[in-house]
Amino acid sequence: MASLQAITFDLDDTLWDNQGVMLKTEEGHYRWLIEALAAWRKARHEAPLTLSYEQGLADYLERRQAWAKQVPERRGDFTWLRLRALEAQLEAQGLTRSCALLWAAAAMNEFHRLRVQVTPHPEAAGLLSALSERYQLAAITNGNIHLKRQPLAAYFPVAIAAGELLAPKPDPKPFLTALERLNVVPHRAMHVGDSWQEDVLPAQRLGMHAVWIAAQGDQALPTRIHRIAHVKELPELIDWLERRS
Ligand SMILES: [Mg+2]
Repeated sequence: MASLQAITFDLDDTLWDNQGVMLKTEEGHYRWLIEALAAWRKARHEAPLTLSYEQGLADYLERRQAWAKQVPERRGDFTWLRLRALEAQLEAQGLTRSCALLWAAAAMNEFHRLRVQVTPHPEAAGLLSALSERYQLAAITNGNIHLKRQPLAAYFPVAIAAGELLAPKPDPKPFLTALERLNVVPHRAMHVGDSWQEDVLPAQRLGMHAVWIAAQGDQALPTRIHRIAHVKELPELIDWLERRS
């Protein structure tokens, strides 16, 4: 292996478990919207919304899916999809356009507040800090977590939201964008992520080394691909690869 200069990281389910936070965020920001809007309308002596929390949440999801089909280049831009869906739902409830825009934006502010409450794996900060002394680091995510407010933001001078580039992984564009900003060629870089389709294959195809985080998987892996069960095993793998080169 040519010696490494840079390591790029997927975030969700690589540096923290995402499922619990995503569920809390999904339900929490929508419940906040329904309750805050109900209180606001009541204070203004306006009729309550006809929408219940459960119906509303299901309708919100359907509207996001419809927008993703209608504007396919935005399918990975989850903040955009959520805003459009909330605006349309609130307008359908009789809110004026400007009110719908304001309340949708406020709900997304609450979304982002909840979304960054991820708990990184306990080893993550120490591991990134040690790696950052030897390698340039970048984050590449398909998710819409706020990249400057997420708890490990300080370790990633370069952070790419692939959905906002309109090129979610496995598109090579977010990888190439990160490498260009780091000024590193693909074969001197490694990508670390949990998704075979979205992290491992596109990185390997570009000529990067790829580390697949998966509790179980094939032992016989294609060239330049390595599997570890947990990100905490990464330093040992890198030492081993560097010793071999
Ligand atoms: Mg992931």
